[in-house]
Amino acid sequence: MTNEQVETIWDQILNNIKNNVGSSIFNIWFSHFQPKNFNQGILKVEVPSKFVKDWLDKKFSQIIIRSIREIVPDVKGVELIVSSKEAEESAKSVKKISFSKKIDILTSQKKLSLFDVNPQTNLNPRYRFDNFVVGQSNELAFAACQSVANFCGRSHNPLFIYGPVGVGKTHLLQASGNETLKVAKNLKVKYLTTEEFTNEFINSLRNHTVNDFREKFREVDLLILDDVQFLSGKNTSQEELFHTFNYLYNQSKQIIFSSDRPPKLISDIEERLRSRFEGGLVIDIQPPDYETRVAILKLKAQEKNVFLDDEIYDLIAKRITNNIRELEGALSNIIFNFHQMNQKITIEKVEELLKKFSKEYYRKINPKKIIKAVSEHYEIKEDDILKKNRTKHLTRARQCVIYFLREITQLSYTSIGEMLKKDHTTIIYSYEKIVEELKKNPELNQDIETIKSKLIES
Ligand code: ADP
Ligand code: MG
Repeated sequence: MTNEQVETIWDQILNNIKNNVGSSIFNIWFSHFQPKNFNQGILKVEVPSKFVKDWLDKKFSQIIIRSIREIVPDVKGVELIVSSKEAEESAKSVKKISFSKKIDILTSQKKLSLFDVNPQTNLNPRYRFDNFVVGQSNELAFAACQSVANFCGRSHNPLFIYGPVGVGKTHLLQASGNETLKVAKNLKVKYLTTEEFTNEFINSLRNHTVNDFREKFREVDLLILDDVQFLSGKNTSQEELFHTFNYLYNQSKQIIFSSDRPPKLISDIEERLRSRFEGGLVIDIQPPDYETRVAILKLKAQEKNVFLDDEIYDLIAKRITNNIRELEGALSNIIFNFHQMNQKITIEKVEELLKKFSKEYYRKINPKKIIKAVSEHYEIKEDDILKKNRTKHLTRARQCVIYFLREITQLSYTSIGEMLKKDHTTIIYSYEKIVEELKKNPELNQDIETIKSKLIES
């Protein structure tokens, strides 16, 4: 077979692959899949990067060879080669890579706190692709995010990821931003929640700084907007996003959205914006299957330098099935108790601890009960929570109230702000302050656990 023949039948081969893998996967991975030459039975195919090559080798080599053989039966093998442009660039960047690896190691040794969130990009370096466990439920979303990070603006635009709470949307979105900056340092990346976008926009209207607001968002190469379901019913913000989107899109800038539901189920949203959401690649993340849950638990335990018996991972993974945030919460809780008691953690004890994580316990808890329980615990008056007094003790109590309101009632930051008469940025700060401090402050852990037990019993 000559090279020309390869070219002419290539379309059929691609079609075969597409039928085998489905069009979403095909669009992600095979959009730059080109035959190079055919020699002594070996077909060389060019792919755009080492990253794509590795992925195709690992995941699709059988399908590729089968699809090709259906059309060209005498193919002995297929070899994927990285297009020479990328190979040159990666040779040049070897030094850089090993340098950034070092930095990675250094930063991973240091405790990451909320102050490590990059003020320019708003990205948290804790969210990376290499600490994301890939399983059946999220592999397509993972692949799409990797692809977008590697081909910013030249891949699927926009990318829309949706799925229920706690399945890793924010993690993947932020990892895409962090990875993009690794691949192309000069690009401007901005991550924010839709709630933040809306609030900033409203503030800019109030302060007559709409032009600054627009400029800020129109100069980015990658805009990541988390939880766009929040736009529901917010007409002016929708309109602003629509124009921002068009501007960026027309300049081939990349946009990634996430939502807790597919575009067609977001209520009270302009049709033209919905169609923008649907205009690129829409991919869902499902709750993780059992194996993925176990793998996540092991990774999270390892990050904390803790190793538990397999039957304990098994039990947690069987009890907590939907939400990875809860899975992590349960694990932290177990590890915390284990440190406290300074004794071997038994399956019975874990069983008991896990009871707290069942939904029924939480259903009865409302904001009033939270304020009451926290006030009692810190021995302050309930009214003081709403006052402006800034003593350390009161501030801590207020932060705990905010933490529980967010964790248990899942109110938005804005609603919590309205309830406590505080700016939403204060609310976000307070919440994250507690989350971060829980990782290193056993006393606070004790406080939170005690209040939680009271709430559950109330
Ligand atoms: P969502 O945005 O979908 O509500 P998050 O991205 O906030 O969910 O995920 C919740 C927590 O679970 C985060 O701490 C995140 O790091 C972790 N997590 C989610 N999915 C994975 C995964 N596949 N591997 C490792 N950690 C994960
Ligand atoms: Mg999220």
